[in-house]
Amino acid sequence: MDIILYILTCIWTFISNPFYGFVVFLAISLAIATVFAINNRTTNPHKMTRLTYVHLAAIFTPILLFGGHMNCSGGLLACGMPAIISQFILGSFLATIISVYLILPMVYPILYRARRIAEGRLYERLNTLSATLDLKTPKLYVADCGLPISFSVSGVRPAVFISVAMLELMKERELDAIFVHELTHIRNSTPNLKSLVSVARLFSPLYMLVRADEILQREELHADISVLQISSLSPYLYSAKAKISAVNI
Ligand SMILES: [Zn+2]
Repeated sequence: MDIILYILTCIWTFISNPFYGFVVFLAISLAIATVFAINNRTTNPHKMTRLTYVHLAAIFTPILLFGGHMNCSGGLLACGMPAIISQFILGSFLATIISVYLILPMVYPILYRARRIAEGRLYERLNTLSATLDLKTPKLYVADCGLPISFSVSGVRPAVFISVAMLELMKERELDAIFVHELTHIRNSTPNLKSLVSVARLFSPLYMLVRADEILQREELHADISVLQISSLSPYLYSAKAKISAVNI
């Protein structure tokens, strides 16, 4: 109890300072404003990504200032421990960002026992469809998995993963429909956005007010619409979905 009181005293001392108090007020106002802006129905994934970065910057600015201010010799109180806690939060945030964006994409091939395909008919199909969508061809991995799954990774090393079971279950045109769906996710950076949402939920209590699931669900719809816009693929999207549903029952 004494520790909590001690930490609260340090925080109070910090925000009582007119300059830091004003920064905290601005940061919280900005964080709340970004929540409202993200929840606006017209927000697209790119805008949501930018607003989420602003939201996280707003959340972390006071923590950064608190950690720096309270730890320096000119601090208002000898609040060493709270300063260490805030630095620990910042460190955890940076470690999470590095893990999610750099390490996790490298771990996926190991996690899914996937082998990279860079030639052959399947890769050529992905290559052609990427050109149709004006995208650089992402890496293609075939995952050694008994379930019909597919997913994509966006960012520095975009990649499409498709399982062996999916390849066995689908006809060629149905695979095309699945590729276009995943390529649309890459074009809209949806995988990155999903990771960012998880990080933001972990570090910002205010981000719980964001209707992220609703927005991500809309992205699934957009990916399907992108397939339907290639009229020759429309029936294959439906048959592919029916096959996946049948297996998942
Ligand atoms: Zn999808």
